[in-house]
Amino acid sequence: MALLDKFLPAAAIREQLSAGGHDPTQVVMERIISPTEGIVEGRHTILAGTNNYLGLTFDPSCVAAARNAIESQGTGTTGSRMANGSFSAHAALEQELAGFYQVDHGMVFSTGYAANLGTLVALLKPGDAVLLDADAHASLYDGCLMSGADIYRFRHNDVASLEKRLERLGARAQDCLIVTEGLYSVLGDCAPLVDIVALRNKYGAMLLVDEAHSLGVYGDTGCGVAEAQGVMDQVDFFVGTFSKSLGAMGGFCVSQHPELDLIRYVSRPFIFTASSSPSIIASTHEALKQLKSRPELRESLWRNATRLYQGFNDLGFETGPEISPVVAIKLGAKEVALPFWNQLLEKGVYTNLMVPPASPDQHSYIRCSVSAAHSEEQVERIIEIFGSLRGLLQDDR
Ligand code: PMP
Repeated sequence: MALLDKFLPAAAIREQLSAGGHDPTQVVMERIISPTEGIVEGRHTILAGTNNYLGLTFDPSCVAAARNAIESQGTGTTGSRMANGSFSAHAALEQELAGFYQVDHGMVFSTGYAANLGTLVALLKPGDAVLLDADAHASLYDGCLMSGADIYRFRHNDVASLEKRLERLGARAQDCLIVTEGLYSVLGDCAPLVDIVALRNKYGAMLLVDEAHSLGVYGDTGCGVAEAQGVMDQVDFFVGTFSKSLGAMGGFCVSQHPELDLIRYVSRPFIFTASSSPSIIASTHEALKQLKSRPELRESLWRNATRLYQGFNDLGFETGPEISPVVAIKLGAKEVALPFWNQLLEKGVYTNLMVPPASPDQHSYIRCSVSAAHSEEQVERIIEIFGSLRGLLQDDR
């Protein structure tokens, strides 16, 4: 029985989270109506926390591509890439992604989480040094941890803190890997990649950038923050996911280094899991095509993001440091944030609640992610509902 006692803290967390009415980690979308609307608890709800940045989940050509793939290739590959699960579509998508990032090598993984795990465990070994942004996603942290490398965390987006750690590494700095994201997913702030790249070059380190939330959102062609900041050719490894702008599931790593192709032979999160289903690969391929050919999707996304950010600021909420499709408001204690989140849901807007220790600092946040598919009316309605609850906060932040 003692084996099961370890769940006591989890039971306490569940109780706390349920105290406000609904447990934010257990919301069930009873029906999905569109990329931005669903039925939750029997209520028509605006979805403002889905990461569906380009709103492509119901795009007719993506849906048709998925349907055709099921009909022509079946529902699943029933095996790993190394065994029976490499279909020509997987290889074609790898080439497509590499070409999109203007590099020669690409790998597709079954999830974004596996892409980070699989890339990092292959790149790093015990004794190597990895410099990781303090707010980096759990999958980046887990990959570093699983590799057995020495992990040095630098303060979030703090170039001076990164340089201090590089200096301390001495000669090891030239063999180390710097790991950062493009757009950070809680506060919606971008990494200072120009400065980080300058340090990569100064110390001879390598750089991995996770563009999970920035693919399709930043840059002239939608590659992400490195493209927007003009440093794509100085990033060693890009990782990303299909589960946000591309509206499906899966992940990738692309690189200018030919060694990327050797990761296939050594990376357990790549080798020992089934490859993505044909329908997923097909809809992702089509979504990438849409992302490239319809810049108006990004325009709508940014229009909505700007309006939501400004709307929240006008209401006196404390938002993140810059306008982005991730719009978070800072609340103080969990005890304030939880009822606020519950009220939002009851009034018909679904958002994400981030509380410590899963939030970046010791604060709680309500996080919205904007979609190109949100209508102007939906954005105004979200602002109106937030405004109607402003009084719940007083000066408790
Ligand atoms: N990297 C980042 C920065 C993420 O935010 C996420 C998911 N939220 C992932 C990787 C993992 O991606 P996936 O959910 O597609 O596995």
